[in-house]
Amino acid sequence: MNGGVSFWYAREGLPAPREPLSGDASADVVIVGGGYTGLWTAYHLKKAAPSLRITVLEQKFCGYGASGRNGGWLYNGIAGRDRYAKLHGRDAAVRLQRAMNDTVDEVIRAAAEEDIDADIHKGGVLEVARTPAQSARLKAFHERELSYGEKDRELYGAREAAERIRVAGAVGASWTPHGARIHPVKLVTGLARAVAALGVTVHESTPVTEIRPQRAVTPYGTVRAPYVLRCTEGFTAALRSERRTWLPMNSSMIATEPLTEEQWASVGWEGRETLGDMAHAYMYAQRTADGRIALGGRGVPYRFGSRTDNDGRTRPATIGALREVLVRFFPALAGVRVEHAWSGVLGVPRDWCATVTLDRSTGLGWAGGYVGSGVATANLAARTLRDLVRLDSGQAGRTDLTELPWVGHRVRKWEPEPLRWLGVHALYATYRAADRREATSPDARSSRLARAADRVAGRH
Ligand SMILES: Cc1cc2nc3c(=O)[nH]c(=O)nc-3n(C[C@H](O)[C@H](O)[C@H](O)COP(=O)(O)OP(=O)(O)OC[C@H]3O[C@@H](n4cnc5c(N)ncnc54)[C@H](O)[C@@H]3O)c2cc1C
Repeated sequence: MNGGVSFWYAREGLPAPREPLSGDASADVVIVGGGYTGLWTAYHLKKAAPSLRITVLEQKFCGYGASGRNGGWLYNGIAGRDRYAKLHGRDAAVRLQRAMNDTVDEVIRAAAEEDIDADIHKGGVLEVARTPAQSARLKAFHERELSYGEKDRELYGAREAAERIRVAGAVGASWTPHGARIHPVKLVTGLARAVAALGVTVHESTPVTEIRPQRAVTPYGTVRAPYVLRCTEGFTAALRSERRTWLPMNSSMIATEPLTEEQWASVGWEGRETLGDMAHAYMYAQRTADGRIALGGRGVPYRFGSRTDNDGRTRPATIGALREVLVRFFPALAGVRVEHAWSGVLGVPRDWCATVTLDRSTGLGWAGGYVGSGVATANLAARTLRDLVRLDSGQAGRTDLTELPWVGHRVRKWEPEPLRWLGVHALYATYRAADRREATSPDARSSRLARAADRVAGRH
């Protein structure tokens, strides 16, 4: 199957739609977007102040975006941490990293409290290196993570890495306990249910066409509120005046048929770690609760004019490329059938830094730009938005979260087309070329091509 939003929905079934907005309305807080960011924000605000009137407006159904399509890595990575260290000092970035480590456990805790069974397994994250250049990057990455206070991360040689997962050609790995495998759709649909049960008004099939101070405009009416929070991540460019804010970057995935006991014995992976690598165009994977491998990577990175969706349909060339990665990693699985392929969009800011902001002069807030690591980050962003709204409305004071360095960060917009399209395609063509070169080179230094691409892209 190709598309159908995602494999996760194909298994669970698409949810019955909630009522759209019918006419003008008012609220204390209106949230645009029903993914993890919007729903966690509604959840934490309502928990903190049950009398708040909160409305979520979702263009399709909750979890239609990346939150219903992702690779299910609930982990402690956050886009932009190194830049925040440069801008605000190492201590500030260490606080941000600690908050992210805690967030993994916070999501697990909240899911348990709300009776959301999202197939969560906290087996940590294993990132492998398969070439000399990847190995050098892995060691540098490992050291960097330790320097942000991660005492419990472990560095493995080839043998120890294989004891966890037998990836062909792996020469080493870095493992952190701060990660869990989840079922993305079970989390987002459970969360939407919990939010609605708390008394938050959730309207689906309700696209917001314009966000202005104190109002969210839809074809069916306008919702007025002192606070309007934009939680639209990869779809943000479709909003008037936000065309060049966050670039919608595609990520694509495949899911195999369930593996046999014998096949699992050849692979290992008993710890259910999430698995990634150190390639420039990296892969990410999980062992699903029903015994498959779900594996993702970059296909067509970006579509001209920031176009986004076709319900997850994925080009055959991308499916073929992901299958090749699967077989390169696990040659014994060459005969395994790929049952499903899908794609989604994530939001990429011009400086690749995630952010959470409440503009106190207008009451407009937003959170996102998580690049590829938003499953846990969305929860931290949501609790931060809660604290910012409560601070601004005089319900509470400053908190540890309102003082984190990503709060209030502003970044310049992306270039207009066709520069944007040309730039992103050139970037990923360069990364792929660099990966190919590194695959056959004994040189431990990262390809000069990729280093130059990183600089041009504004990533480092
Ligand atoms: C294929 C893929 C794999 C990924 N894998 C991982 C992973 O393993 N780990 C990880 O940490 N991150 C991963 N990510 C990123 C992660 O899924 C996202 O960062 C996270 O889900 C973002 O949540 P969100 O709520 O901010 O955005 P979304 O989930 O995209 O939600 C935005 C919502 O807003 C709605 N919306 C948009 N515009 C409007 C509008 N105008 N009016 C009303 N509603 C609107 C959309 O329909 C959507 O439901 C992946 C992303 C993709 C695409």
